[in-house]
Amino acid sequence: MISRSELLAAAEAIRAGELVAFPTETVYGLGANALDPEAVARIYEAKGRPASSPLIVHVASVEQARELAADWPDSAQKLAELFWPGPLTLVVHKNPIIPDRLTGGLDTVGLRMPANTIALALIREAGVPLAAPSANRFTELSPTTAQHVRESLGDRVALILDGGPTDVGIESTVLAVSPPCLLRPGSITREQIESVIGPISVDASDQIGRSPGQHARHYQPRTRLVLARANELPAGRGAYLFVSVPGKAAQPIHMPADARAYAQRLYALLHELDAQNLDWIAVEPPPEGSEWDGIRDRLRRASAV
Ligand code: AMP
Ligand code: MG
Repeated sequence: MISRSELLAAAEAIRAGELVAFPTETVYGLGANALDPEAVARIYEAKGRPASSPLIVHVASVEQARELAADWPDSAQKLAELFWPGPLTLVVHKNPIIPDRLTGGLDTVGLRMPANTIALALIREAGVPLAAPSANRFTELSPTTAQHVRESLGDRVALILDGGPTDVGIESTVLAVSPPCLLRPGSITREQIESVIGPISVDASDQIGRSPGQHARHYQPRTRLVLARANELPAGRGAYLFVSVPGKAAQPIHMPADARAYAQRLYALLHELDAQNLDWIAVEPPPEGSEWDGIRDRLRRASAV
């Protein structure tokens, strides 16, 4: 956990236009004042992220979200009341105070209230909403510990608030509010959302115009990652992440059969395996069911060539 003086220093850095890495319940974020275009530009520079890929803005209350939106439909209100603080990003029309640079020129903005006490304290103390993508270089694995952030960004980030390993372990579900469309699956499932606002459509992965930044190649370890059944493992030295059937890998790794526990473990494990210079990391295709959609999506991107 962090001290009061660390929190104050971080809030001060944010107000000064600097970058601060901080924990959220999903992954670690690389935060900056969302209302300061120069601070926002520093995020893109530190990550090496293309300017066309919009950032998510983190808020500390539903009221703060409403102030950043040009309109706030009833469906957004209902979803926020039910799932915030939590791993659901709502894409709505943006208030002009949100810099165009933050949204890659789109007239919409992704908003979310994270369920992490350090993140919320930082937003409140800084007194501004925080633009924050994952705190890693572009296309790399997202960080789930402060150490991962240090390894990926080094001295590109001055301050890292260490809140220990993150709970959820994969990035938030992203929903365009009107018309409702699931842009990125995550631990809050399509069923959960549909139970509140009725049927939603799902973004075909090639609808890049609607959700820039959803690149096929993303969330990748350095080691080659393949999706494979136990009888399809590549030759050479590798690790096999399985839920049901162990394969003949040098390192068989039994993964949790529960999607939440699996997600929590996944990136930390991939970071660890990546340090071992294996020939490959193979992963058994995850089970059916919408609670696995987020994991399936990340593994598909992690294995894309
Ligand atoms: P990241 O910050 O890396 O977790 O990724 C955020 C992702 O959310 C982006 O890459 C987009 O795919 C999506 N996103 C954020 N803001 C918007 C927006 N205004 N419109 C559509 N998609 C968005
Ligand atoms: Mg990211």
